[in-house]
Amino acid sequence: MRLILLGPPGAGKGTQAQRLINNHGIVQLSTGDMLRAAVAAGTPVGLQAKSIMERGQLVPDEIVVAIIADRIGQSDAKRGFVLDGFPRTVAQAEALDRLLAKKGLKLDGVIELKVDEGILLNRIEKRVAEMMARGETVRADDTAEVLKGRLSAYRAQTAPLVDYYAGKGMLKSVDGMASIDEVAAALDRHLESGASVRRRRPKVARLARSNARRKPKPRKTAKRAASSARPKRSVAKRRKNASGRPKNRTRRRLTRTR
Ligand code: ADP
Repeated sequence: MRLILLGPPGAGKGTQAQRLINNHGIVQLSTGDMLRAAVAAGTPVGLQAKSIMERGQLVPDEIVVAIIADRIGQSDAKRGFVLDGFPRTVAQAEALDRLLAKKGLKLDGVIELKVDEGILLNRIEKRVAEMMARGETVRADDTAEVLKGRLSAYRAQTAPLVDYYAGKGMLKSVDGMASIDEVAAALDRHLESGASVRRRRPKVARLARSNARRKPKPRKTAKRAASSARPKRSVAKRRKNASGRPKNRTRRRLTRTR
């Protein structure tokens, strides 16, 4: 299963991605997590991304596309993945299309978590408080100020993806304002309906393949075709020999009955 979760910061993509990976045995590919790991490790990508992320802006497309291209090719992603935070621009979506086409892979769906922007700040404040309570390091971009930048980046650069995938007939929307369990159930319903469509398709394909494998019937020769077209004669008539008299076996039987 290969999925994309779309939605603004705080929509719940990460939470739902976690549930999906636990239930479906796929991996979560979060460009945000990968970039934060690069920043923490001080890699060249991390050094380039750090200040951009702290401002709530988007890291250049070529960097994230290269990260994803590398990650999708790893063995644990073979069974499937849920993309969280990628693609974030139409250019990234097009790059993903090319990447998957090159590997002969297809996306199973794109799920948009729809939320009211008004609640996003509350959600992020709650997340910060919970992280602090657990003694975890709070993200540098989880502040009211940076959230404004992240939201405007979402509106300008990522929201157009809703139309991009709707135009391809791949978009499903889920009410992200519902509870975590309700959102998860709605997501599962979409995935199940998609899976049942997929399950029906291979059956047809299998049938077509098995028909193609079946030996073609030998073509009738002109002579055989003519003989099968002739009306069937009765058994007694067919057993007559060339002289027109019934064959011995028939004659004997006729004698016996007399
Ligand atoms: P959010 O909770 O805002 O969705 P993420 O953890 O997905 O945050 O991303 C954090 C930051 O990492 C983004 O604000 C952006 O700077 C950078 N980032 C993550 N994914 C991408 C991407 N696909 N393209 C560009 N920048 C990205």
